[in-house]
Amino acid sequence: MISISIEGNDVDEYLEDCLLDAAYFFCTELLPKHKKLEVDIIVEIDRESKLEGYTGFVEKVGRHQYEIYINKEQPLGTCIISLAHEFIHIKQYEKGELKMLEEQQKLLWFGKPYEYDRAYDDIPWEDECFAKENELYYKWLVKIDK
Ligand SMILES: [Zn+2]
Repeated sequence: MISISIEGNDVDEYLEDCLLDAAYFFCTELLPKHKKLEVDIIVEIDRESKLEGYTGFVEKVGRHQYEIYINKEQPLGTCIISLAHEFIHIKQYEKGELKMLEEQQKLLWFGKPYEYDRAYDDIPWEDECFAKENELYYKWLVKIDK
């Protein structure tokens, strides 16, 4: 079962609807054959959360279970692009392309170990997100326009 929920205080209803619709859409696009996935989208204000200046981030919290944090102090389109970005990471985890090692200090990308604190623009799994996040967002815009 694919289950996606949204959490957060004073989340604008329109933003919530868009995030939920986009999340299911990204799931179908990225993991079309997936049967089991649980994603909690936590919509927050940066200073009150663990965002630390990021537009969003994702945490794997269990088998097929994730929490996505989205900074709501950004325009709607940017929120959806952040969501697309984090869903690409979920795809990477679910397909085993990206694996977190037990001690969580190292990650495996297609079997190759990486230190976690490499510069942000020098991480292959981030390259995939930055290359695909806008395309996914535009696909969603086209879908809701129909
Ligand atoms: Zn990322």
